[in-house]
Amino acid sequence: GNQHKVEANVLLLGAENVGKSALTVRFLTRRFIGEYGDIESIYSHIDKTDGREIALNIWDSLYPQSCETTESISDKQMQWADGVILVYSICDRSSFEVVRQQVQLIRQTRKLSASTPIIVGNKRDLLHQRAVSSEEGRLFALSADCGFFEISAAETYHGVLLVFHEILDLIKESKALK
Ligand code: GDP
Ligand code: MG
Repeated sequence: GNQHKVEANVLLLGAENVGKSALTVRFLTRRFIGEYGDIESIYSHIDKTDGREIALNIWDSLYPQSCETTESISDKQMQWADGVILVYSICDRSSFEVVRQQVQLIRQTRKLSASTPIIVGNKRDLLHQRAVSSEEGRLFALSADCGFFEISAAETYHGVLLVFHEILDLIKESKALK
């Protein structure tokens, strides 16, 4: 048809081992494999929700090893991204702290017209190991003006789908404003 092709670059941030790759693979293939390795990659995918085609690029990032000397988000990543998903594990308090730092970093450096970031508490299936309450995650996201989801990439595809559709909606909104 004569529709314009929309492109959306989505950057996944967060500490290591929180499930960034699991989320990405779940969204792209609907599967949960279990082991993903330490690979940094940009995946391209055509999303056809709402009868509209979106060329979606997902940058599944690696948390840098030496974070004392470098910022945990590069300028390149910041410039590339139309939307950001920040992932922590509900069983790992330090990963929640990483998200708090990264949100701050984004707020300092990004344009006001950039889309709203989304915070994701992953591994909701591991309830007995919970170290960050839903309430704390939700309240932090609210105070930082971010979206919020608690999901399990291991258990269901549905939550992962909601997260990606929400970020695409937010990107569409922010692009419409420009
Ligand atoms: P990344 O380093 O952030 O990319 O994390 P990975 O996607 O590699 O996941 C790290 C580990 O957590 C792997 O062993 C995954 O199988 C596991 N994992 C990821 N998501 C979940 C989840 O929702 N629940 C559980 N129980 N394990 C998960
Ligand atoms: Mg990974």
